Amino acid sequence: MASAPIDLTHALDVDTPVFAGDPPLARQTVLTHGRDGCHLERITLGTHTGTHMDAPFHFFADGDRLDGLPISRLVGPGVRLDLCGRREESVIWAAELRRAGPEVNPGDFVLLMTGWDRFWGTPRYFRHPYLAPDCGRWLVDCGAGLVGMDTPSPDRSAGGRGGYPVHRLLLGAGVLIVENLRGLARIPAARGNYAFLPLKLKGADGAPLRAVFLGS
Ligand SMILES: [Zn+2]
Repeated sequence: MASAPIDLTHALDVDTPVFAGDPPLARQTVLTHGRDGCHLERITLGTHTGTHMDAPFHFFADGDRLDGLPISRLVGPGVRLDLCGRREESVIWAAELRRAGPEVNPGDFVLLMTGWDRFWGTPRYFRHPYLAPDCGRWLVDCGAGLVGMDTPSPDRSAGGRGGYPVHRLLLGAGVLIVENLRGLARIPAARGNYAFLPLKLKGADGAPLRAVFLGS
């Protein structure tokens, strides 16, 4: 029997945590029901706010931008790898990815579940487990089409970010990245279909998206 869709997205608001140096999310009421007959807001936010996608252009001047991606790159089959039970700032190696779930087929979306979304909104969220560079190479070699995670980055975030090796390996090979997912533990099967649909912002290096497990 088909399972129900599951929302994997954090709600955006002014308290959405962002990296130091990124613009904070701001919202301002412009029209109100009482005064104007309808409600409308202005929002200000960075392109990497909340649950969002990184396009290759984020790190590579000649890389793909979000609006040029065919919709077939954003909707499709994926596997969830179980990497829960890790300590703060622990390193994940490719050998562990290999053991953490079903085989990755070319084009698959690969969802890395660490359970770190439970620390969303606390300083600990940025002291998350992160991937060794050999994970980036392994994911590229598997033919992953997209790599998503329930942490703010595949690379180390705290204590010096070390040049973003996994971002560079994945985006350099055209593999999309989705950061700040939530609720991966609610997905009932290791294999299923997903949709990751960013705002179609022209020429964008990244954008918030709605992430959905569609069913198995
Ligand atoms: Zn990003």
